[in-house]
Amino acid sequence: MYLILLGPPGSGKGTQAERLCKQLDLPHVASGDLFRDHLKRETDLGKLARSYIDKGQLVPDDVTIAMVKERLSRSDCRGGTILDGFPRTQAQAEALDLLLQELGQQLTGVLFMAVPDDVLIERLSGRRICRNCQAPYHVLFSPPREAQTCDLCSGELYQRDDDQPETIKARLDVYHKQTAPLIKFYKGANLLHEVDGNIGIDQVTDSLLTIIRSLQP
Ligand code: AMP
Repeated sequence: MYLILLGPPGSGKGTQAERLCKQLDLPHVASGDLFRDHLKRETDLGKLARSYIDKGQLVPDDVTIAMVKERLSRSDCRGGTILDGFPRTQAQAEALDLLLQELGQQLTGVLFMAVPDDVLIERLSGRRICRNCQAPYHVLFSPPREAQTCDLCSGELYQRDDDQPETIKARLDVYHKQTAPLIKFYKGANLLHEVDGNIGIDQVTDSLLTIIRSLQP
């Protein structure tokens, strides 16, 4: 099963992808996490990506596609994967089609999580992430038991630089201009399935699993 989680920043793609991957035993391929790993290791790609990520802009297609292509070509993705945050542009969507063809695979479905902008801003500005295991929290909606500490691994929680108000606005603009057109693209290909992302986390997971179970691998 090759599934895409499509949605604006803050729609819950990362949270839901983690849950679905556990349930379905699939690897989670999140382009944002791949970039953050490069930033942490201070690779050349990480240095290049930082200048875009810090401004809330998209990293150029050529380097993003090459990075995801390398990840999808690894053996653990042979049985499928859940893509989170990729594709984000038409060029990336077309490159993914080609890549899956090369791998002798095809896209099973695209799950679009719809959430209004005002809710996204509220979610992103209160978001905290574990530095160690990347588990997400929210200062109001899902706070950790102990302040600044991950419930799962006791790692330190931090606020992503790109979750600052100015950058959130830029990311939402970029989403509406560059990524939202993919909704129509995948609708046209009969691959799009929409869920309401503005309900409880467990209910969103249930909706997604119901759709996935109805899809033919
Ligand atoms: P995310 O963790 O998915 O919110 O991604 C964080 C940042 O990484 C984005 O704001 C972009 O700057 C960059 N990024 C992640 N995925 C992509 C992508 N598919 N194409 C271009 N840039 C990306």
